[in-house]
Amino acid sequence: MTKARGMRGKITIVGAGQAGLSLGIGLRRFGFDVTIVSDRTPDEIGTGHVMSSQCMFDTAQGFERALGINFWDRECPLIEGMRFSVFLEGFSDSPVNAWSASFERPARSVDQRLKMPRWMEEFERLGGELSIETATIESLERYARSSDLVIVAAGKGAITQLFETDFGRSPFQTPQRSLAMFYVDGLRRPSGDSHIEFSLIPGFGEYLTYPALTIDGECDIMLFEAVPGGPMDRWSQRKAPREMLSDAVSFLADHLPHEARRAAGISLVDDKAVLAGAVTPRVRNPIATLPSGAEVLGMADAIVVNDPLSAQGANNANKCADVYLQAIVRHDGAFDRRFMTRAFEEFWKIGGPATDFTNQLLGPALPHTSQLHLAAAKYGEIAARFAHCMDDPADALDWILDPIGAHRYIQRVTARHSQLVA
Ligand SMILES: Cc1cc2nc3c(=O)[nH]c(=O)nc-3n(C[C@H](O)[C@H](O)[C@H](O)COP(=O)(O)OP(=O)(O)OC[C@H]3O[C@@H](n4cnc5c(N)ncnc54)[C@H](O)[C@@H]3O)c2cc1C
Repeated sequence: MTKARGMRGKITIVGAGQAGLSLGIGLRRFGFDVTIVSDRTPDEIGTGHVMSSQCMFDTAQGFERALGINFWDRECPLIEGMRFSVFLEGFSDSPVNAWSASFERPARSVDQRLKMPRWMEEFERLGGELSIETATIESLERYARSSDLVIVAAGKGAITQLFETDFGRSPFQTPQRSLAMFYVDGLRRPSGDSHIEFSLIPGFGEYLTYPALTIDGECDIMLFEAVPGGPMDRWSQRKAPREMLSDAVSFLADHLPHEARRAAGISLVDDKAVLAGAVTPRVRNPIATLPSGAEVLGMADAIVVNDPLSAQGANNANKCADVYLQAIVRHDGAFDRRFMTRAFEEFWKIGGPATDFTNQLLGPALPHTSQLHLAAAKYGEIAARFAHCMDDPADALDWILDPIGAHRYIQRVTARHSQLVA
């Protein structure tokens, strides 16, 4: 169907997650006729399992502020910075290298079980239509017949297999980490501040904690990112939630004893506050063609899935929604392949560096990244720039993602500091 010039169109979005809902609410604010198709009711999402650790940095939060859907800013604990520590097996008492830095503006993590049902309500309050249905290819055909544009924001749902893998942009064919996540009460925060505590044990994996807002108030999230088959990988077998938590604590006692002390009095916030699994990082072609020849546009995790290690997915979801919203609002004419390609390529300017940044973190340490981390321990401005890249991974392009740029950068900072000392 083609939109008449100057008219607001009819848009159907599949998936009521971070991307689909923020885009849908944005489109309603601009007067579009929007339907969001969700395979779960708000109640099912709210009473279901935790889905993410959803640490969101300032740029992504800015999109929610602009839409007026940052409902939890006051209650949600602030994540004010990041502490990065490397531990070697057998020397677990103190890190062999560590740096910390504050974020320019705080990050926040709001349990998606709290956020999505509230956003579904807001979307309907703004006049959007919420349809509870598991979308299939047949239903996509139906939406395509009645809409000017169909967007698939179905996260890791099976329907996204409709989008072909872009192997040139997908270096991994299997998960690079085995994950376990817990929302807990009682985790002590080091020195009372609220940072992302990022502990890396080469060959084992990474362990991250940070504060969050869950259904009953403040909590802390523990995320284990285990190298598959390694000593941290205790998550492959299905176990009861409390058994998984005690496995996690016993891993900490054996390998990160100071973290075990922080976790001495923890308990799960509820019996759905555990998630175990694995993600295969993958980039898909953004446009899928239905059997009828109609084309649909993918967004966020439906087409660009990164491992959660770098905390980019929910941030990317908002950034993609922001880019697509602007592209749709500015566009005059049919939402054709040309429009879809342009909208995605605009997002890829942001999503591409986030993907490269994440994929680099998943691999073994590279000489230039090790040197950068050592330099960050010495020079606060390098640590601060690492922290800044969490919000803006495109800033990683000319140093973290560029070995020559990294050496030049270290030399520049070192020279400046030695001039200051002289
Ligand atoms: C353990 C873990 C920790 C993470 N931590 C972070 C972090 O700290 N920071 C960060 O930025 N990101 C993080 N992420 C990633 C982040 O959660 C996702 O990238 C983000 O939620 C993706 O948003 P989305 O809207 O694309 O997909 P989703 O939020 O997954 O939403 C997709 C929705 O579509 C629905 N759906 C699926 N199939 C269908 C269908 N056929 N019909 C209708 N509806 C359908 C689903 O039920 C779901 O509600 C983490 C992920 C995991 C697994």
